[in-house]
Amino acid sequence: MERYEVVVAGAGPVGLSTALFLADRGVRVLVVDKRDPLDGPPRASTTVRTLELFRAIGLGPTLDRVGWDGPLPMRSMVKDSAVGAVLHRAAPPPGYVERLDACSPVDSRRAMTQYELQRIALTELRRRGGQVRFGAELVEFAVDAEAVRARVTDVGTGREYQVVSSYLVGADGARGRVRELLGVDMPDRQVDARLNTAFFRADLRSLMPESATHACFIRNEQVYCTLFAKGANGDRWSSHIMDYPGKPAELTQLSSEQTLRLLHAAVGDDTVPIDLIECNAWEAAIGLASALRRDRVFLVGDAAHVQSSAGGAGHEHRHPGRAQPRLETRRRATWTSR
Ligand SMILES: Cc1cc2nc3c(=O)[nH]c(=O)nc-3n(C[C@H](O)[C@H](O)[C@H](O)COP(=O)(O)OP(=O)(O)OC[C@H]3O[C@@H](n4cnc5c(N)ncnc54)[C@H](O)[C@@H]3O)c2cc1C
Repeated sequence: MERYEVVVAGAGPVGLSTALFLADRGVRVLVVDKRDPLDGPPRASTTVRTLELFRAIGLGPTLDRVGWDGPLPMRSMVKDSAVGAVLHRAAPPPGYVERLDACSPVDSRRAMTQYELQRIALTELRRRGGQVRFGAELVEFAVDAEAVRARVTDVGTGREYQVVSSYLVGADGARGRVRELLGVDMPDRQVDARLNTAFFRADLRSLMPESATHACFIRNEQVYCTLFAKGANGDRWSSHIMDYPGKPAELTQLSSEQTLRLLHAAVGDDTVPIDLIECNAWEAAIGLASALRRDRVFLVGDAAHVQSSAGGAGHEHRHPGRAQPRLETRRRATWTSR
């Protein structure tokens, strides 16, 4: 049996950040994750606020070393293909970026993938004495007046052990076990859109130089998707595929062949080599847990709330009691590069 002040279930960006900030204040913390969360695609990108918080605990130089310059804030364009014509450009009002930059020590263009942020958080957490265990699944817990007693399984060996802590933080994602065990639901969760996201390697920067400064959207008769650079070199990309002819209403995993065909339609040249890393089908949903804390147990991150990346970009979400937007409007939702 082991004893900690705080146990965090989940080593995603939120779990690792929670543990890092606790360890930075001298709290004895353990993070368990049932898999290795750094073994995957880059997923989301960071926001200025995240980088400000990391900077506040002395990580400014590390962020400067790892981060890169992403698109200018709120600057986007729609093209008919990567190599094709620009259909539409959007930019913030004059002076907006200068005002934004005056508000923060972090450059508003500074970008970093979720994966890179998690790697920094993991290294810095360990440096501050935090314990992290991958392949360790929280399966059960019980709360009493003094402590939380969690049962953890070593995924590799099947061995079970108990961890005792003053508090437990459920940072175990949208389908979190902690929320389930707490009996907390997400009553108004609504699915906004069903998407397929592809992560891939390709040399698109030279074909689409605008991607260095703009969030790029592609709309043509074969596909409606994003093309976002996922790194300084412009060789790694993500594409949220929002629509294509014959797209089924239900969540559907695309085959590699279908994904490549759609990506080539987006590029506008099917001779461009594309090396697929991973494809996911996922629901962009919006929802808030009915409670964020019970006794000694807290919910954070996607376990506590999910939101669509389109939320802040003029996209109309469905709300109970409000008229439903037409499908056409919903399909036209724009996606932030964040
Ligand atoms: C393919 C993909 C692309 C995405 N792209 C974007 C994007 O472009 N923009 C954007 O804003 N967001 C994006 N997201 C969403 C973003 O990644 C999530 O919002 C974010 O990861 C949530 O962080 P989190 O730490 O709360 O949870 P998660 O990152 O989901 O981490 C939860 C962790 O808990 C672990 N876990 C689960 N159950 C247990 C258990 N019982 N015991 C121990 N560990 C457990 C899991 O293994 C996981 O590592 C994307 C997500 C995916 C899957």
